[in-house]
Amino acid sequence: MNLINHWIDGKAVTNEPERVGRVFDPATGQQTAEVAFASVEDVDRAVSSAAEAFPLWRDTSLAGRQRVMFAFRELLERHKDDVARLITAEHGKTFDDARGEVQRGLEVVEFACGLPHLLKGEFSENVSTAVDMYSIRQPLGVVAGITPFNFPAMVPMWMFPMAIAAGNTFVLKPSEKDPSPSMLAAELWEKAGLPAGVFNVVHGDKVAVDRLLTHPDIAAVSFVGSTPIAKYVHSTATEHGKRVQALAGAKNHMIVLPDADMELAADAAVSAGYGSAGERCMAISVVVSVGDAADRLLPEVEKRIANLKVGPGMAEDSEMGPLVTAEHRARVAGYVDLGVEEGATLVADGRGLEVDGHEGGFYLGPTLFDNVTTDMKIYQDEIFGPVLCHLRVDSYEEAIRMINDNLWGNGTAVFTNDGGAARKFQNEIQVGMVGINVPIPVPLSFYSFGGWKDSLFGDHDIYGPDAIRFYTRQKTVISRWPDPIHRGVDLGFPQHE
Ligand code: NAD
Repeated sequence: MNLINHWIDGKAVTNEPERVGRVFDPATGQQTAEVAFASVEDVDRAVSSAAEAFPLWRDTSLAGRQRVMFAFRELLERHKDDVARLITAEHGKTFDDARGEVQRGLEVVEFACGLPHLLKGEFSENVSTAVDMYSIRQPLGVVAGITPFNFPAMVPMWMFPMAIAAGNTFVLKPSEKDPSPSMLAAELWEKAGLPAGVFNVVHGDKVAVDRLLTHPDIAAVSFVGSTPIAKYVHSTATEHGKRVQALAGAKNHMIVLPDADMELAADAAVSAGYGSAGERCMAISVVVSVGDAADRLLPEVEKRIANLKVGPGMAEDSEMGPLVTAEHRARVAGYVDLGVEEGATLVADGRGLEVDGHEGGFYLGPTLFDNVTTDMKIYQDEIFGPVLCHLRVDSYEEAIRMINDNLWGNGTAVFTNDGGAARKFQNEIQVGMVGINVPIPVPLSFYSFGGWKDSLFGDHDIYGPDAIRFYTRQKTVISRWPDPIHRGVDLGFPQHE
């Protein structure tokens, strides 16, 4: 069995691990590899390699760091399909979707290539007579990234290009369900000329995460994953004196007003609800129709669901792949059972789906519930699968209130042709990322990504300008060079004459 091991100090570790996890091909249900689970000692080795590499990397000129970033960008572009193939093999999403994921990660690398410009500080001449004052931004040291299964290439790339370009060294703990894309990233960094120890990968579970959260040499932690773990990561790492950003779960609503273009809204609901089998933190999982919009929207949605092709991610005609593991499939199917018990109307049922020749795969077809209400668990919980809940409300105010009362605030969208209604939405909605006739409003790399409420813990969004603030510390300097005016001792506070 192929063993996926850690990457420490510029090379793959060869020691036999004490504990391993299992990696599956979700399209067939077959185990394809074992993945090493790091011990405390393994994590310590990765952190000390990163700590040793830090002074050299911090002091590498901006131009030198930039050259490595550009080289990594070129290699990633050249190996885009290789990364995408690894994503499909272990996550299950379609190859085309996986390529899109790599592209969105690549865009962060491209933004990070221009970081020298954005790392510039400020300078004020003559803040007092012959005294200058300036600010500089310095890297933090060793920073850690802990990432989820659903974007095994993109989410790590929301973190490490920015952290490394800013002069930090990095320890990544990717999801144990799909660890291979991170190993390819490590190889590409090595080829790009990144010094050994600047980028390390440790695989594993809670043991590895807990050591990263408490290790005295880790300065900051970036986390992306589910809400309970994000809360735990945030509280544990801050308690241990670290800077933390912890991005969490979601339940993203899409409002459809009666004046919306129903064809456009139906395309959007189906694409955003079932793309990547609903395993996206920005997936639409709730559609809220206002007034009579439902009667015109739902038949269009049903028509599109009936035509969706579910199959292995590498098959050219597959539009939706399997779920990531058998356990996750069972959990999502359990929510479909629960929705029926709770009294929602099951309009499309994906539970019985079988894919010819792939009977062992973790497939669940697109599922649609109508007449869902806010007191149902299928509304309240993040299901993270191809299950779309449809709710009917009488007024736009009611729909907005529903979103604002929801625990999460990652993404949301309104579909309307009324500019005033759209502006009201943008102004009043308590959610971090907002789409107007756009179902998945993921910011590009030169903005930052972040939800509100229980979708993000910490003060910084991820990538973009917020990442520069997160991965650097500001230092201000006041300088005076010897001048002819010697003022003698003065115990008062300076008054800048
Ligand atoms: P998860 O929380 O189970 O795992 C995330 C990471 O935490 C993994 O590396 C995992 O190994 C580790 N982990 C799991 N349990 C742990 C524990 N008890 N103690 C310490 N570490 C632990 O999340 P997942 O299932 O891999 O990913 C799906 C979740 O991530 C969904 O909730 C989704 O909404 C969320 N997500 C959010 C965003 C965002 O930007 N807000 C983006 C992608 C995914």
